[in-house]
Amino acid sequence: MLHTILPEGLRFGVLFDRLTSVHSIYTRAEEALASFRARNGLSCPAGCGTCCEGFIPDVLPLEASYLAAWLVRNRPERAREMAESDAVLPTGPGCPLYDPNKPEAHCTVYPGRPLICRLFAFSGVRAKGGQASFALCRGMPDLPSPRSGARTWEGPELETLFGPPPLMSDFGAELEGIVPGDGSRRAPLTEALPPAIRQIVFLSELGGRGDPNRDGNDPVLPPLPRAS
Ligand code: SF4
Ligand code: SF4
Repeated sequence: MLHTILPEGLRFGVLFDRLTSVHSIYTRAEEALASFRARNGLSCPAGCGTCCEGFIPDVLPLEASYLAAWLVRNRPERAREMAESDAVLPTGPGCPLYDPNKPEAHCTVYPGRPLICRLFAFSGVRAKGGQASFALCRGMPDLPSPRSGARTWEGPELETLFGPPPLMSDFGAELEGIVPGDGSRRAPLTEALPPAIRQIVFLSELGGRGDPNRDGNDPVLPPLPRAS
């Protein structure tokens, strides 16, 4: 499915290799999450999107590039608008990529969203001592017996009642390991996205020239303004 994320001109080179690694980590994280949810019958209440309403994710440069590539490929007009700004403009207190009017599809960039948005509700963290810990989101109701009476579990109890959750810290460390030192370059998604889109457009235009395999079916992003 990576071909539905990347513009045609961006199918080789260093950034392509790195985004392939991002895609692989996202895929494994989502498989682990799906398995954890299915095993435990966990889901968010229908229509809830509270986690996006007061939150803007901090992302690695490669996560911004991955989302930028998806936007350029799949939402070129929107990508152009974002690329013309220094930051994605706020639409309220939370993430500007959230649409409260679409209860079944709140996230307008769902296939390109960053790791924290993929794992948020159904992942664990490492507690003190390194053991896994899992907490129910505040938006979820209490669970029935034998998990009733608590909202956080860790260690052997978590293992017995739920099995191992995907761990945000472990997948996050894998992402940070693609480009050593990238962890210190995290930035709010709203600030990271416009320059990432400009970079994707530049590289995909370079890469697409003279590519004999290019089928010409990619949407064409209207010209972007030059940096002054
Ligand atoms: S990118 Fe999507 S899932 Fe993540 S905070 Fe924004 S709207 Fe929510
Ligand atoms: S993670 Fe929590 S706040 Fe977000 S949609 Fe699920 S229940 Fe609602």
